[in-house]
Amino acid sequence: MDIEEFRIRGKEMVDYICEFMSNIHTRRVTPDVGPGYLRPLLPSGPPNNPESWDEIMKDVESKIMPGITHWQHPRFHAYFPAGNSFPSILGDMLSDAIGCIGFSWAASPACTELETIVCDWFGKAIGLPTDFLYFGEDSKGGGVIQGSASECILVCMLAARAQAIARLKESPAHAHLDETALLGKLMAYCSRESHSSVEKDAMICFVKLRILEPDEKSVLRGETLRQAIESDTAEGYVPFFVSTTLGTTACCSFDNLKEIGPVCKKYPGIWLHVDAAYAGNAFICPELKYLMNGVEYADSFNTNTNKFLLTNFDCSCLWVRDRFKLTSALVVDPLYLQHTHADTAIDYRHWSIALSRRFRSLKLWFVMRSYGLSGLQAYIRNHVKLAKRFEALVKKDSRFELCNDVVLGLVCFRAKGSDKFNQKLLSSINDSGKIHMIPARVNQRYIIRFALTAPNATSRDVGKLSSYVNFI
Ligand code: PLP
Repeated sequence: MDIEEFRIRGKEMVDYICEFMSNIHTRRVTPDVGPGYLRPLLPSGPPNNPESWDEIMKDVESKIMPGITHWQHPRFHAYFPAGNSFPSILGDMLSDAIGCIGFSWAASPACTELETIVCDWFGKAIGLPTDFLYFGEDSKGGGVIQGSASECILVCMLAARAQAIARLKESPAHAHLDETALLGKLMAYCSRESHSSVEKDAMICFVKLRILEPDEKSVLRGETLRQAIESDTAEGYVPFFVSTTLGTTACCSFDNLKEIGPVCKKYPGIWLHVDAAYAGNAFICPELKYLMNGVEYADSFNTNTNKFLLTNFDCSCLWVRDRFKLTSALVVDPLYLQHTHADTAIDYRHWSIALSRRFRSLKLWFVMRSYGLSGLQAYIRNHVKLAKRFEALVKKDSRFELCNDVVLGLVCFRAKGSDKFNQKLLSSINDSGKIHMIPARVNQRYIIRFALTAPNATSRDVGKLSSYVNFI
């Protein structure tokens, strides 16, 4: 494809995308295909000779689209939103065209600097303490965009692990032990309601993880953490990392940072992480900032703009209070990656697992400027308002019960009856292909999650959903 054909095909692709998005509501939400559906439809190997663009696009519609689960469909209510907006799509398009690999400042100065600035903008907008911002007064902090919340938690756990090992090595009692022996002493903590990525990250870091019981509202409390830390310390373990969640995946509960923070501070060297992958974006609304009370105790905080801020995957923002603690765990410095401004500039390769990195900040910058904070707040408030509307429908129908405190765009509910009955109910709703929700376990019970996801969701969509669930 030469540049003249790209000009034509690019415009056609924009038309295709507009058509697709305008009519997405006419498609099934979930595909009617089984595993392995695609293999017989495609040749067993790549073509030897070039194929025409028209032929390729024909196959998109006839072979690929029938196997797509439409996360942007107005009746997709599973998981959390997969952020999407036109400014963001255009941002990614430009980022792909620029095609820089911004692992260091020198590898593309604007790629690095825009990321730092956009993280500062966003951090300020959600009300993070100024210590987390790069340009905070005398700040050692700063923000970075990672590919996922899982990576955000992983790099913080790695940094906390490195700090803990270094501290142990300084003590006469442990100086004779090597890193592997010390690793066996480290203990991380999270709640049963934390995302499974915390468990996976602990596996990768090769550290023990104590999974704590939250209270009846699915909230991790300070006293539970204190008791666990005391008993582990008495047994010779070294608590080094606590991962908390604001906006849990199953039911959008909020761990009690006001209680947990002081417990962490009592034990020197515990790194307190706050995973707000979904909910953190909502803190741009002044009336929702109370949900992050206690964040002043945190060492790091992450939120995915690709969940709840109209930005396409991937764009997971992480802020740390001390960027030197983070980078000291991740620095390797071969000559071919060094440059003359390394002392004064940020090199994001030291903040993440991968070396190469996309120009992700471009799309977030486009989104923030195109919507403005007021537009983004309106989007979040619309989801909250519609969730409240759905909550009212559940409460009105005595055959159903509500299973969470509805504060953002997630409603958890179940039919009064057994788990089996609810499983059957959800299967029959999902089998229609006209709507999609997923289950979760809250307070040991099977519940159905209704998540607002569509960027322009309306009360009509919520009304339609209620007819599928059969609310009276
Ligand atoms: N944390 C929370 C609270 C989540 O809800 C999720 C995913 O939904 C994650 C972490 C993992 O996110 P990612 O897919 O970006 O790793």
